[in-house]
Amino acid sequence: MNNLSQSNGAAVAANPEPANVFSLDGKLALITGGGTGIGLEIARCMTEAGATVVITGRREEVLRDAVEGLGVSAQYIVNDITDLTLIEGLVAQVEATYGPLDILVNNAGINLKKPALEVTDEEFSRILHTNLHSVFALTRECAKRMVARKKGVILMISSMAAYYGIDRVVAYAASKSAVEGMVKVLASEFSAQGVRVNAIAPGFIETEMSRRAMDSDPDRRDRAMRRTPMGSFGQPDDIGYAAVFLASPAARYITGVSLPVDGGNSIGF
Ligand code: NDP
Repeated sequence: MNNLSQSNGAAVAANPEPANVFSLDGKLALITGGGTGIGLEIARCMTEAGATVVITGRREEVLRDAVEGLGVSAQYIVNDITDLTLIEGLVAQVEATYGPLDILVNNAGINLKKPALEVTDEEFSRILHTNLHSVFALTRECAKRMVARKKGVILMISSMAAYYGIDRVVAYAASKSAVEGMVKVLASEFSAQGVRVNAIAPGFIETEMSRRAMDSDPDRRDRAMRRTPMGSFGQPDDIGYAAVFLASPAARYITGVSLPVDGGNSIGF
């Protein structure tokens, strides 16, 4: 088979070998919040697919344990994503130490469960700052480099809270809805430069964050389950496998989408 084929007059790479199309061999991924929950399983699935991963978070002992479990293809950097002054240095450090970044996973996030009328401006800003402003700042820094190299994959982690009205998460829902908008804009701006931008919208996945939201609220747990046709909560590696797919050459024509990984929750009656 030819190595190159013609499309609209431009030379494009030929199909990768089918056996390798889901592989992340030789790729470098930066995963925020990669020490726990969904981020940790994204890291695990990506290393199993052949990638080297750099995970970040605020708690060094958590990151150290995670890297120990993940093996030689994983490294960590302690970083608080909300300190925007550190972002340029973080990305420069990753690339100087480990090489050019192929994949960014904006996974770190926080939630706040409270009736909207009780949410203060400070609380609203705190959620938006972590889940949106920091995500944009880090994405812009990585994308500058990816666009210059004309390749890269950016993944956001959205939520069912961006899909339908979940009570008592107004700031969280606002942040994730904004991330969904950002995915479409960035995908349209970066596509010509070979950088793809997508989101994964997890349904109800068993992690620390969801346990905190559900354990004290059995009614919420029941309602979430009732509208999940597959009848169970998801596991963090369900998101990990979807992340591998979206980051891999198998998804090379997919950009600007939000992929629900939710056991049907988003279409449940
Ligand atoms: P966890 O609370 O287990 O993980 C969140 C991670 O983010 C932690 O590793 C935490 O590390 C890190 N983090 C939080 N704040 C910061 C910060 N300021 N700087 C750097 N890292 C930070 O939650 P999940 O795994 O459940 O959530 C991961 C993502 O998935 C989030 O974006 C969440 O909104 C999303 N999601 C989760 C769902 C679920 O059902 N679990 C459903 C839908 C979306 P540390 O505290 O050490 O900084």
